[in-house]
Amino acid sequence: MQSSVFHRLFLLLPLAYQHTSNDADHKVTHWNYEYHGTNWGGTCQSGVEQSPIQLAYEKAYTVPLPRIVFKNYDVRLKEPLMLINNGHSVHMDIPETQNGNRPYITGGLLKGRYQAEGFHFHWGSPTTRGSEHSINKRRFDVEMHIVHRNVRYNDLKEALKHADGVAVLGIMFKIVKNPDRTYPGLNKVFAATSNVVRYESESEISGSISVGQLLGDLDTRNFFTYKGSLTTPDCNEAVTWTVFSQILPIPFGHVAKLWRIRDSSGHSLINNFRLTQPLNGRSVFYRTPIDGTKGK
Ligand SMILES: [Zn+2]
Repeated sequence: MQSSVFHRLFLLLPLAYQHTSNDADHKVTHWNYEYHGTNWGGTCQSGVEQSPIQLAYEKAYTVPLPRIVFKNYDVRLKEPLMLINNGHSVHMDIPETQNGNRPYITGGLLKGRYQAEGFHFHWGSPTTRGSEHSINKRRFDVEMHIVHRNVRYNDLKEALKHADGVAVLGIMFKIVKNPDRTYPGLNKVFAATSNVVRYESESEISGSISVGQLLGDLDTRNFFTYKGSLTTPDCNEAVTWTVFSQILPIPFGHVAKLWRIRDSSGHSLINNFRLTQPLNGRSVFYRTPIDGTKGK
């Protein structure tokens, strides 16, 4: 039976991975999405506040949290802006703005400032959806993550050692045949995506963008927020998640470009999402304007 073979594989793989792990800190040096994270080891296995999770309006505590405040999100970033295929996703480091400031966020569950460091995407395949979080058991075609670092820590590596170190914004996209609106910033990003099919290839995004342009016309007043982890090794439990509940439209052609991306082995990089993780008693909060309607 195929299922018993699968079970045996799941039992054997964590042992296999011990060989590539550093015993001191359980670093997983080589990893992929073949088993959607079930074989990653280290904190990815032993952690109890892991991400992604299933989000649900009925189970979240609707609380009067402050909205997320975006600073310097409307200012164009310093060029060149480089998109890179890192073998796990399509990624861009976020530099300072053209007037020398850093885009950062405050508000929500966050205490203090969190500076934007980079963004990347998670996607599925022509037959599967690729979002990491689900909302009311629905998953979406693409999930974008904008990673931020608490400015009290010197760099992302240091921030990942602290529970309040990192803030990630999650934005969901759904393929729409003929979108009634498109987003200039994301259009530029996806234009460059065609040039980073090969592992470790880089491409300059033509023209300038602001971090805010990545959000399109997203209504940022409504979001889920909770304490969790990175969704990639080493799955550090350092992340305050803010996942917006509005789903943005994305043209099929943009997502098809993601499906063409290749990993370090030259295989199609598809379904680069981790499976949802147990909540383990954590609280998930939902923020919506007082007079707003609670999602749909
Ligand atoms: Zn991510």
